Amino acid sequence: MDTVEGSLSLSIGFLKRLGYLSEDLKYGGIVWSRFEETIGNINFWIHRRDLYIRLIYKVTSYSTGEAKHMDYQVPFLRTWCYFGGYRYWFQCTYCQRRVGVLYINTYARCRKCSRLCYSSQKASRLERLIGADGYMWKLDEERQSMRITHYAGRPTKRYLRYLNRSEKSDRGFELMAFLL
Ligand SMILES: [Zn+2]
Repeated sequence: MDTVEGSLSLSIGFLKRLGYLSEDLKYGGIVWSRFEETIGNINFWIHRRDLYIRLIYKVTSYSTGEAKHMDYQVPFLRTWCYFGGYRYWFQCTYCQRRVGVLYINTYARCRKCSRLCYSSQKASRLERLIGADGYMWKLDEERQSMRITHYAGRPTKRYLRYLNRSEKSDRGFELMAFLL
């Protein structure tokens, strides 16, 4: 997964590949993890017909511990593909440019706007925490790919890890690791 200065990225191509753009209204969640640790998660509603994604997450300040609930919309754009079908884009709410990837710090912005909003000092702090090689999991997908959940009557390690992440995700973003 691409990251810019340690922020969490959300790619519209990724959402499309997972089938989130196949229906007019779809709810989902994404968890970002690094090694076994959850570093962030968001939930979202995709309103395909009205061309926007509603992002819902919590941002916790590391310095003050203060939590901020985020709930806002980012518009989509749609272009017709030469080979058929549509290509979707996010529209950065700051510069209005169409982009394939949003970077989430406090708000979701395009790469350029995301960089502008963070000083290098803050960025390096973020980088240390999250790393440049963070990757994302979609819990549903992971569950579906798990053929064996129990072995000899006991849950497998992988299944336990999944349950743990799933529970954290359900608890409402307590583990959001966005540095401000
Ligand atoms: Zn922008």
